[in-house]
Amino acid sequence: MDDIQRIKKFIPITNEVSPTFCLAKWHHTTIYLQTGETHSCYHPAPHKIPLEEISVDASALHNTKEKISQRKEMIDGKKPSGCQYCWNIEALGDEYISDRKERNASIYTDERFNAIKNNPLAPVNPQYIEISFGNECNFKCGYCHPKHSSSYYKEIKDYGPYDMVRNHRNDIDWFTIYEEENNPYVDAWWRWWPEVSKTLTILRITGGEPLLQKSTWKLLEDLEKNPRPYLEVNINSNFGVKTVLVERLVKKVSSLLSSNKIKEFKIFTSIDTWGAPAEYIRTGLDLKTWERNLDIYLNGTGLPVTFMITFNILTVTNFNILLQKILE
Ligand code: SF4
Repeated sequence: MDDIQRIKKFIPITNEVSPTFCLAKWHHTTIYLQTGETHSCYHPAPHKIPLEEISVDASALHNTKEKISQRKEMIDGKKPSGCQYCWNIEALGDEYISDRKERNASIYTDERFNAIKNNPLAPVNPQYIEISFGNECNFKCGYCHPKHSSSYYKEIKDYGPYDMVRNHRNDIDWFTIYEEENNPYVDAWWRWWPEVSKTLTILRITGGEPLLQKSTWKLLEDLEKNPRPYLEVNINSNFGVKTVLVERLVKKVSSLLSSNKIKEFKIFTSIDTWGAPAEYIRTGLDLKTWERNLDIYLNGTGLPVTFMITFNILTVTNFNILLQKILE
């Protein structure tokens, strides 16, 4: 069965609930603890997590009242406005596969689906979490934002926002960044973690730069003490950190895997092209450091690496060199 057939198989099943039902609204979440925001996928804009909601139930990091009302809209066959990306694709015709249909097929299990059917508005412990513990980062890439990079934030604070950006605001006066050490959202995460990790299948740690954040290391330590042999752990790293941190990661991951305390580990690192343009796009990138860290990781773990490539106009001229480097 090819991918399209596999996805189509689930359409009549999930249509039993409603034709706008999306399992990602229940079982996928990205949570930015530094700003206290969440969304179910990258298409709807993140919304604020009210502090009063997490003070009652830490799972409100994902199960906000706002998200539950979007779930209700879906159950009622309505189309939440934040999901317009999918509605636009579906308006092209039944042959077009939206992310909603793809997610429904990839997340579906009888157990998850029936639990939602029986109690659609109950809080859920999701199957996939992407978590950002803070915005601390040693890079300030051209396509990033002060919400996600402390270096970018500092630059805007010192010199003011870029004034040639038209499609989003990169000034810093309209949001609050919580420090990792003193953040009620991070506290809520550690209250929720023992419970949510019982059924979680993928945890992806993003940033900022996760290897610079204490919570990343605390989490890996916790997995040593409280194994989750069914859990896949992913980390997005810029691999521009001190080598000692990559060596520490290699040791920790090797230990967790060899003792079956986690199921799988994957690293994702960004690189857009090679040479000076690569370093210009991703301000802070030093290719020698990146390559050395990559070698240490590859040789130390023997695991594959995924490259996240933001293909852009500055990428073009040296892209063939990057492809040769990947082959190497
Ligand atoms: S319907 Fe589409 S946009 Fe909305 S949560 Fe699902 S995949 Fe994301």
